[in-house]
Formats: sequence, C-alpha cells, structure tokens
Amino acid sequence: MSHHGGVATVLVVEDEKDIREVLRRYLERAGHAVLTTGSGAEALRILRGPGVDVLLLDLGLPDVDGVEILREVRRSGRLPVLVLTARSDVEDRIRGLELGADDYVTKPFSPREVTLRVQAVLHRSEHGPDEGDSTCYGGGRLLIDEPRHEATLDGTRLDLTPTEWGILLALAASPGRVYSRYELVNRVRGYEFAGYERTIDSHVKNLRRKLGVPDLVETVVGVGYRLGWARDR
Ligand code: CA
Repeated sequence: MSHHGGVATVLVVEDEKDIREVLRRYLERAGHAVLTTGSGAEALRILRGPGVDVLLLDLGLPDVDGVEILREVRRSGRLPVLVLTARSDVEDRIRGLELGADDYVTKPFSPREVTLRVQAVLHRSEHGPDEGDSTCYGGGRLLIDEPRHEATLDGTRLDLTPTEWGILLALAASPGRVYSRYELVNRVRGYEFAGYERTIDSHVKNLRRKLGVPDLVETVVGVGYRLGWARDR
C-alpha cells in the first residue's frame, strides 16, 4: 500500500463534471491525491496500472457500464470500491454491493460523508504489521491471520473485500455468538449508519459464496449471523 495515516490516491470515475470536481475538492482537502475521469475506458486504463488505493465509481457512465469496471476490479484484486449512486437508485446500490463494492456514497452527498467513507474503507483494507499469528477454527480448516490480513480455508487463501474481511473477523472474534446486523455494521464500519443494516445481507451472501461452506456463517432467523465453527484449542 502506498498510503500512510489514511491518506491515499483516490480515483474518481464520474461523468458529471460538477460532481467530479466537488469530490476532488473534498478529497484533496482531506489530504488525498485525486485522479478523475469521466470515461470508463480511461478508468480501466488507469486501473490496469499501479497507484490507485481507492476507487469511487459511478455505475452510470456513457461509454462503459460501471458494472463492467467493478467486475474487472474484483477479478484483478482487492482494491476498495465505493459506488456512487443517486438517492433514489436502490437498484444500483444493491447491484454494486452484490458485485463486491465495499460501500456506496449517495448523491447528493456531504463532504464529511465522503471523506468518512474513504477513511473507513482505507482503514479496513490496510495491512497490519508483519507479525502474523493465525487463529484456527473448525479443526484447522479456517485460518485467520489478522495482522497479515489473510484468511485461508482448507488451504486456499480467500480473496475478500475489506467489508467481507471485516464481517468474518467480527464473527470469528466470538464463535457461536450471534451478531445482529446492527452490531455487524458497527463493528465492520466503526461508525453508525442507519439504512446499511439491510445491505449487510448482500455482503454476507458474497462472503458465503467465497467460503463455499454452508455451515461456516450461519443465519439465526430474526436475530442475525454467527460463526458456526468453534475456535481450535
Ligand atoms: Ca452518471
């Protein structure tokens, strides 16, 4: 990672020039380096190179479908992605989260909201110090190395988004304990945000698909989620 102390290079992909420029101003004021483009094709070119730490992506672009950009980003790594959506566009928001976006910013947005969200995804994606010590679950099947920011299931390293990683970590902190959606949102994000509770289900769904093991993350109907495997030792 090329950022320190929560300062990063942010790529803003948004075809509305006014929004693009407002975002640039806010993010630069927060100390970030900001790249902007209104073209999906140019965004893909930039993203194929190194240097971007966070992506702010409008899904409705004139040349390339933002969903395609999101897919390509998810195929090639774990760059944190915030989707930009209009307040009314719930579909976009859900679609973005299902495709692995870490969060969304609703237009019109406040400067504080945008900078908070960027700080939060950076915080979640930052690699810890190099002093790995794995915690094991389910008789050695699941290994979580929090400082190294790595999880391995049956010997295969899991490629999780920062949000999915946060959910797994929260559940694994206390196996068997049931976490409500509200608690998960608070633990994963570090701040409260009403309305996010419902979308945590999309992240859990994605996490489960990646785990590919049905009983690892259990749903407790009407309450929330829990880790179904015990911690070893
Ligand atoms: Ca647009």
